[in-house]
Amino acid sequence: MSIEIKFETNAEKYYQDYMEVVREFYPHVLDKEDGERFHLSLIEDAEQVTVIIECPLLPEKYYKISEKIDISRNNLAIIAQIKRFSKVALYDCMKKLSKIDLPYGSLTGIRPTKLFHDLLFQGKDARKVFTEDLRVSESKTDLIDDIVKNQSGVYLKKDGVADVFVNIPICPTRCVYCSFISAEFSKVKKQVPLYCDLLKRELADCKRLIADTGYKIRSVYIGGGTPTSVSDEDFYGILSLCDFGQEEFTVEAGRPDTITESKLKIMDETGVTRISVNPQSFNQSTLDAIGRRHTVDDIYRAYGAARKYSFDINTDLIAMLPGEDFDAFRRSVDCSIALRPENITVHTLALKKGSVLKVGGYDNASDELAAKMVDYAREAVCAAGYLPYYMYRQKYVSGNLENVGYSLPGKYCVYNVDIMEETTTIIANGAGGISKKLDIAENRLERCANPKGLDVYLSRGEEVFDKKREFFLG
Ligand code: SF4
Repeated sequence: MSIEIKFETNAEKYYQDYMEVVREFYPHVLDKEDGERFHLSLIEDAEQVTVIIECPLLPEKYYKISEKIDISRNNLAIIAQIKRFSKVALYDCMKKLSKIDLPYGSLTGIRPTKLFHDLLFQGKDARKVFTEDLRVSESKTDLIDDIVKNQSGVYLKKDGVADVFVNIPICPTRCVYCSFISAEFSKVKKQVPLYCDLLKRELADCKRLIADTGYKIRSVYIGGGTPTSVSDEDFYGILSLCDFGQEEFTVEAGRPDTITESKLKIMDETGVTRISVNPQSFNQSTLDAIGRRHTVDDIYRAYGAARKYSFDINTDLIAMLPGEDFDAFRRSVDCSIALRPENITVHTLALKKGSVLKVGGYDNASDELAAKMVDYAREAVCAAGYLPYYMYRQKYVSGNLENVGYSLPGKYCVYNVDIMEETTTIIANGAGGISKKLDIAENRLERCANPKGLDVYLSRGEEVFDKKREFFLG
């Protein structure tokens, strides 16, 4: 749906948050000078916060609501409370205007389960806050509640624990929905060996950093990109430097056409415990349309070859891919279940800036179809014995939905839980990697980003390691 407004607020610092709420209802919203005036005033008194919303488009034209919030304490929790309260007021107005309910109500963040955990930690009735205060639907609250319960035994928030992330942002081809920095192999062929060499040096430095900081490493995740795109020699060189005493070692092999016998052997020899084989769809016409350049047979071949080893296997599917109707998606879900991987993650297509689909004007805004697909996946996967155990949401996603990881009992990917719940420090390596230092007492994460593109990463060289060392030890 589209709308043209001139959105004004005295709370400029929340402008982006407010526009996210508006965008959940109207994905094609235009905030322009000659749009219909939409004004949100946030008034903070000593003990009370009031929101006044004025817009001629609203049935009442004028909307006012107040809540007792002790702003004199002025800490992070109070700021979050004010923001949430004003977003709910805006949500209620947008609901009146559009006459639709959204599955996640006024929630716009990436990590609903993290908020649910935080509320439980504060001794609050998280279910009640979600359904009554934040307007999240019963069904989505059930999902979040189930995920939080299923994380018991994996969820660990403890000082001195870290995960290591290694980024290899290179892929055989570019998927049409991709907005990552990942480069097509053929376009960076000459830089790949140089990149791998510098990454190996960064990993050697990472080992020293871990010794110096004393972190206990829980999980190592090599992602991208498609890490299996690089040569066997480089692949072995990188993986053999990743022994940090972790209990879980995952490689996002991803593209079935890059999963060869030799790559599998290297992963086995270097102690990898989990790999991903990502079909995205089991329909050939879809694979062709999204730029994957591999066949459905390749998926079965790669999966069968990987099954000869003892790896746990993650698989990914995406709902709402171009050209797919409900039956096409259902087929992919059923094919995935029949393979019986340890993990099935069901994504909902997000049209991110910079993707070929977005640039080409593709519209994925059929909310009903998206909901039908995602509901079917949840039902079928759970009926087959899988449990939802992590989730995240993205901007510009079909139907305002989510991505959910389901696992066979006891087969959860620890890294997925850690990264989504932000419960551990992350030591990131490679172009585009973002290290995160967790301060549990303050419930805060500090970030330190490596340069994004291959070129910049290579040009900065060891300066990147020094900056990271300073971040963790300085
Ligand atoms: S495999 Fe992933 S990172 Fe690579 S192009 Fe496709 S979506 Fe992007």
